[in-house]
Amino acid sequence: MENSLNSFDVVVIGGGAAGLMCALQAGQRGRRVLVLEGSNRVGKKILMSGGGRCNFTNLYTTPENFLSANPHFCKSALARYTQWDFIAMVDKHGIAWHEKELGQLFCDDSSRQIVNMLMNECLQANVQIETRSRIIEVRKTDNGFSISTPQTSLECRSLVVACGGLSIPKMGASGFGYDLARQFGLSVRDTRAALVPLTFEGKALARYADLSGVALPVTARSHDAAFTAGMLFTHRGISGPAILQVSSYWQPGEEIRVDLLPGVDAEVWLQERRQTRPDAELHNVLAEVLPKRLAQRLCELSFGSKPMRQHDEQALQAIAGQLAGWSFRPGGSEGYKTAEVTLGGVDTDALSSTTMEVKSVPGLYFIGEVVDVTGHLGGFNFQWAWASGHAAGQAV
Ligand SMILES: Cc1cc2nc3c(=O)[nH]c(=O)nc-3n(C[C@H](O)[C@H](O)[C@H](O)COP(=O)(O)OP(=O)(O)OC[C@H]3O[C@@H](n4cnc5c(N)ncnc54)[C@H](O)[C@@H]3O)c2cc1C
Repeated sequence: MENSLNSFDVVVIGGGAAGLMCALQAGQRGRRVLVLEGSNRVGKKILMSGGGRCNFTNLYTTPENFLSANPHFCKSALARYTQWDFIAMVDKHGIAWHEKELGQLFCDDSSRQIVNMLMNECLQANVQIETRSRIIEVRKTDNGFSISTPQTSLECRSLVVACGGLSIPKMGASGFGYDLARQFGLSVRDTRAALVPLTFEGKALARYADLSGVALPVTARSHDAAFTAGMLFTHRGISGPAILQVSSYWQPGEEIRVDLLPGVDAEVWLQERRQTRPDAELHNVLAEVLPKRLAQRLCELSFGSKPMRQHDEQALQAIAGQLAGWSFRPGGSEGYKTAEVTLGGVDTDALSSTTMEVKSVPGLYFIGEVVDVTGHLGGFNFQWAWASGHAAGQAV
């Protein structure tokens, strides 16, 4: 390819987690790389992630932490660029980190350090980065691809699409990656907001909205998935890590089941309380293990509240059953404006699992969230961005 100012070995569309990782890997291999970022700065989601401290990976990453129509697809890339590889890069840059819980690693200081690290690596690898880029057209050429912007036309041998998903449109999310996939004849699996708070409607909203702020540990279930973590009532519905996790499995119209007392045999416990506190009202007894406002509301709505001695064995059994299987049918979700990720995306059948290259269009790659691979909450989505970015960066 002619070595003019406008010709590159690799153009990466999207300067997020996956795009920057791919660019620095390709640059380190001596490729001439340009990153075209649509918004005014790169790595915006990294900056806002993990409450400003970026949960950049998870110590216990396995392929089981990812949802995809093909659960095997992520294995190769995850095996070739692991959490330990990313930690080694973080350590090389002297960034202090800590494990919060469940293998989730966060910066001690700020997520800005992760963006700076990726930018420094890109700088050392002579990667060019252009922000506020608007792409009008992408075309396949004999030697690769041509990309038109309002100002100019660029040529590249390899084109990497790292545009992310649809979550948080105000951060620059667009459907551009999916449009490009369709333009090249690839199928795109239905997309849906995931890792997202769920909302109540009608009766449920009236019953629980004023519990906003009440939080407790639970086990939440949808289909075969079960997550034990925190749950939080909000003024519109329900959130917290356990709910965000099951939101990725939940389909509109379905019920979610919640064990409000995980790890406790509620029936045995209630019987024991009837012995030791026979005159105490049920809501006061439940308030020993549940937030007081929730205990009160459950009694108002379902259990009644008479002294413990007046609840016979059968009644206690029924109450225990409801505590272990509190179920509700969300009206919907908070949608892409608050979702951490987008479920679905470019069908993995079209891609090589080792390189992320489109099998039918040599030189075209899709990486990161735009692909139909979605991680659980806890640093897994960034690990997929790093691993898929690395896979393509080593191949372009
Ligand atoms: C609030 C929030 C917190 C999160 N916290 C965590 C966390 O702590 N840990 C974790 O693992 N995951 C977290 N995630 C998920 C994680 O941010 C994403 O999974 C990850 O950023 C995906 O990387 P990506 O490079 O594929 O996409 P992105 O990081 O979204 O990058 C895509 C880039 O492409 C750009 N772009 C889009 N359209 C165009 C276009 N037409 N032309 C040019 N550029 C374009 C965008 O501006 C963006 O910079 C969080 C997400 C959110 C929203």
